[in-house]
Amino acid sequence: MPISIQVVGGSLGGLTAACLLRDDGHDVTVFERSSRELEERGAGIGFLPATGRYLADRAGIDLSTISVATDHIRYLDRTGDVVHDAEHRYLFSSWNTVYRETLRAFGSDRYRLGAELVDLVQDADGVTGIYTDGTEHRTDLLVAADGIGSFTRGRLAPGSDRSYAGYVAWRGMVPEAELPTDVSSMLGDAITYHVYANSHILVYPIPNAAGSIASGDRLINFVWYRNYLEGGDLDDLLTDRHGERRDLSVPPGLVAAHHEEEARATARARLPWQIATVVDAVPDLFIQCVNDIEVERMVFDRVCLLGDAAFAVRPHAAAGTAKAADDGWRLAEALSAHPDLPTALGAWERTQLELGHRLLDRTRVVGRRSQVSNTWEPGDPDLIFGLYGPGE
Ligand SMILES: Cc1cc2nc3c(=O)[nH]c(=O)nc-3n(C[C@H](O)[C@H](O)[C@H](O)COP(=O)(O)OP(=O)(O)OC[C@H]3O[C@@H](n4cnc5c(N)ncnc54)[C@H](O)[C@@H]3O)c2cc1C
Repeated sequence: MPISIQVVGGSLGGLTAACLLRDDGHDVTVFERSSRELEERGAGIGFLPATGRYLADRAGIDLSTISVATDHIRYLDRTGDVVHDAEHRYLFSSWNTVYRETLRAFGSDRYRLGAELVDLVQDADGVTGIYTDGTEHRTDLLVAADGIGSFTRGRLAPGSDRSYAGYVAWRGMVPEAELPTDVSSMLGDAITYHVYANSHILVYPIPNAAGSIASGDRLINFVWYRNYLEGGDLDDLLTDRHGERRDLSVPPGLVAAHHEEEARATARARLPWQIATVVDAVPDLFIQCVNDIEVERMVFDRVCLLGDAAFAVRPHAAAGTAKAADDGWRLAEALSAHPDLPTALGAWERTQLELGHRLLDRTRVVGRRSQVSNTWEPGDPDLIFGLYGPGE
């Protein structure tokens, strides 16, 4: 039975769910807080099958045209020698590229920008979302895909606050054409790791900002996990170069100069020369905090939490967008399979709670092995990316 649905949050989780629910005949509108399309988030993502499933199965997109395939998992030692090389195929893309295609599949008619949910009221017959632009929308269901800082989670599941994992990701991208050829050729066909005391960095190629995957056009992207103590240590890192204490991330161009200099110097001192060359060549480094979020409920009468709004998992399985997409697929399936909304949402919640807890536990274990216990072993199958389990 078709119902009316407002999706709050128009990033990959919200958009994928919106496409699927719209395809099933529901009356769907997306409300996104940002006043502009979200093109500025250009970082790389491990591109697991669930993330690309809508685009491949429903939008007719050949995933090989929007992602870069790598055929090796490679580890370098401090001197830059290869100490482990195994054949393994991964796909990588960029957030921008996947967002652009998913938004095209949904269309812009029902994608409202500059609409931040600031209140919600529900009763037996429906849910009303109240937005900053002064509008109110009443629907049968509200899907909250409003991310790690979810207003909706804060309102309906107080106490499910994020908890800082003890480390952040330093990140950056550089055009491969700007790197020496011995560096770009070594880093261009693999995910390349370096693991050292209480840290690791990984490097992989991604499409450029325009989505090109042609050799020579691509970007080389890195994610470098580094420990900072909660309190003054982290506060100083997250205080940007204008003195503003940032919450979850410090964008490109705003990392405090002393931290940016320290990171580049540490890269030169501690990382293989090929990877240090990449860190040095990146014009603007940026920082994302690693946090855990978990909830005990995802359904609150006519509201459900989806993607990072429910569970934010550490990035070590490269599965955050895949989990958000899976939440959308399962929600659409549950609404089709069950005659009434409470039964459908109850069935959906059982499977997705289990997935969220399992994935979060797995990524915590992997994170601890790198950042705390120094028990990360190249070649360990448990370290393979995957949503449902390593490699799955
Ligand atoms: C360092 C790092 C590396 C990562 N690597 C990977 C990877 O390799 N592969 C992968 O799949 N995932 C990765 N992730 C995770 C991935 O980025 C997230 O899991 C994913 O973006 C979650 O999508 P989402 O749609 O649930 O939330 P988000 O992408 O956070 O989107 C939430 C949206 O809601 C909007 N919003 C917020 N509040 C409101 C409101 N009140 N009203 C209206 N709109 C609102 C926001 O503007 C935003 O657009 C990584 C994350 C980090 C931190």
